[in-house]
Amino acid sequence: MLVDIIVPCYNESAVLNMFYTETARVIDDIKGYDFNFIFVDDGSKDDTFKIMKELAAEDKRVRYISFSRNFGKESAMYAGLKNSTGDYAVILDADLQHPPALIPKMLEAMEEGYDCCATNRATRDGDPFLRTFFTRRFYSFINRISEVDMPDGAGDFRMMSRKMVDAIISLSEVQRFSKGIFSWVGFNTKWISFNDVQRAAGVTKWSLWGLLKYAVAGITAFSTFPLKVAIYLGSVISASSFIYLIYIIIKTIIHGRDFPGYASIITILLFLGGCIILCCGIMGEYIAKIYIEVKNRPIYIIDKTNVDKPKNDYGR
Ligand code: UDP
Ligand code: MG
Repeated sequence: MLVDIIVPCYNESAVLNMFYTETARVIDDIKGYDFNFIFVDDGSKDDTFKIMKELAAEDKRVRYISFSRNFGKESAMYAGLKNSTGDYAVILDADLQHPPALIPKMLEAMEEGYDCCATNRATRDGDPFLRTFFTRRFYSFINRISEVDMPDGAGDFRMMSRKMVDAIISLSEVQRFSKGIFSWVGFNTKWISFNDVQRAAGVTKWSLWGLLKYAVAGITAFSTFPLKVAIYLGSVISASSFIYLIYIIIKTIIHGRDFPGYASIITILLFLGGCIILCCGIMGEYIAKIYIEVKNRPIYIIDKTNVDKPKNDYGR
């Protein structure tokens, strides 16, 4: 049985060696399995790629794929999965926030017949308070409105069978939101929890703005609810305008013509204008997604690699 360890890396020179040593220590103790590392260098600007090449020179199990520029973690994971050949694949962050010590436990789950062993962060001690707060709100919102179930704390740290990996790479959308994709493809999943840890070294690549954009991407990728908001909003507004109209007619019949209500007219106009712009904005968000998707550009572009017969993404 061959297990591929897929590691997306962006400017991880501070931890990559530590990650390798730690993970190698864990897998060297596991009997009955062969392991390969697939390090994906997502256009790092530091020595990450150099370290990968050094590791590959020392250890035959190390494969690397280096992108022509930074394409984002989603693209890096996709490239890793697409180039994996193992019976199982596990995705880990390079910063040791995903403890490699869980790999034996994940293998046990796979032996029990599961197609996926996913992890749940029991705590979020490694994250700042505000980020935790917004993340929790985001998950409760997205689970309410989207067609797939995305448990809070579920990350990309998971082991998957060949069957599941093949299903995931068949979903070749450019704007990827893996948390949704994992859950959309289905399969029997065993959940295990782990305690959150701080990143071993280096800094997080996520800004608050980046996370916000990620949240919007997640919502629009797996739900069309925001588009329906326009319908609900429109119906409520027309219904209340109609009631108001009847009220005015009756009032005019009984009391005669009133003094023209400038304030109420301007308020209603502004309110309606706001609603229209909001709905246009929501539609624009989806149209932008269609636009990007129909261009059908590759999700990643490989610059250098030592994988035999690397799978690029040209022509998808
Ligand atoms: N990462 C990547 N491309 C990017 C950003 C991040 O491959 O554009 C990798 C990064 O090297 C790390 C993982 O994704 O291995 C998670 O990133 P990070 O630790 O910065 O995120 P956090 O743990 O703070 O969510
Ligand atoms: Mg991290």
